[in-house]
Amino acid sequence: MEQTPDRQQPSLSELAPARMAEELGIKPFQGRQIFRWIHQKKVFDFDQMTDLSKGLRKTLSENYSANKLTLAEISESPRSKTKKALLRLHDGETVESVLLRDRDRITLCISTQVGCAVKCTFCATGMSGFARNLSPGEIVEQALYLLAGEKLGDRTPNIVFMGMGEPFRNYDATVESIRLLSDPEGLGIGARKMTVSTAGEVPGIERFAEENWQVRLSVSLHAANDTLRDELVPLNRKYNLDRLMGSVKAYIESTGRQVTFEWTLLEGVNDTTNDIRELIDLVGDTKCFVNLIPYNPVAGLGYTPPPLPVCEAFRDALAREGIKATLRVERGQDIDAACGQLRRRHLDSR
Ligand code: SAH
Ligand code: SF4
Repeated sequence: MEQTPDRQQPSLSELAPARMAEELGIKPFQGRQIFRWIHQKKVFDFDQMTDLSKGLRKTLSENYSANKLTLAEISESPRSKTKKALLRLHDGETVESVLLRDRDRITLCISTQVGCAVKCTFCATGMSGFARNLSPGEIVEQALYLLAGEKLGDRTPNIVFMGMGEPFRNYDATVESIRLLSDPEGLGIGARKMTVSTAGEVPGIERFAEENWQVRLSVSLHAANDTLRDELVPLNRKYNLDRLMGSVKAYIESTGRQVTFEWTLLEGVNDTTNDIRELIDLVGDTKCFVNLIPYNPVAGLGYTPPPLPVCEAFRDALAREGIKATLRVERGQDIDAACGQLRRRHLDSR
């Protein structure tokens, strides 16, 4: 499937079938054919698109590329629980994405930006700074590379926008990528199988509430008081907990959907009984689900995950108050699957 894209040529991976036909001046069915080659068969080489006429294939090869990313590195964890792709962009930047296997379920964790400007103090991506936004094609291609060669059968993968970057700081491209990923001529991933995670970019939450779909929303909370959240998630200084919770409640009200709160457990920072109490007070009356993630240590940032019993006690205390919570035990630590780490290692060795 490898075809090195020419940086000058427009990429077809980000055009929906109808737009593809329109832009290329071809028949609608031909637009669907090309879309299927790219998104279903993950073929980026026009010469291999055998049901297109030779003339069309030649025109496409001369003027376009199908993909924007190339594979720089792919690593599988020893027990094949995770697969991680490091992908290279036209401008030499790199982006990473992970595939997680959990029993029968496949989840893809994909990125929306190269780096991240939010700079959460515990996050490797934040530490690496911000380079640029990804385009819709660059977001979708991560899923295509991860799924190439996977035997899915009748399983549909889940997609979480939890790789590098803050999706709501790249709102339009994120939304367009969701439309491409759900297109029935392509991967056909149902909206309910996709989750966008935000660090609390309030205008994005407000826009998301207006989208007429079932895509899920996660909000990374990590602290339930402004002093601590200002420190951990600097975006809180712009949109404090009051504004954030206001937008989340309005979202739930207008969509009728549940929200997931992410809480990365950091030992001695946000894992105490006081933190539990504050969290219960903050979200107790909200239609929500809490996802507890023991911290995946990043060298040099100075945080550690709490011992497992502390994590379990946190979850159980929420459950006693009727708050649904899961403790996500880290998968893929063996290949540095946490947010931003593969790219960091790669940058360090340059
Ligand atoms: N920017 C968005 C989405 C990407 S980060 C957001 O912050 O929500 C996805 C999730 O991974 C966030 O909840 C984030 O706090 C968490 N995360 C980042 N680094 C982590 C680490 N080293 N260990 C555990 N969770 C981490
Ligand atoms: Fe950005 Fe999310 Fe990392 Fe914060 S946790 S720096 S918002 S990617």
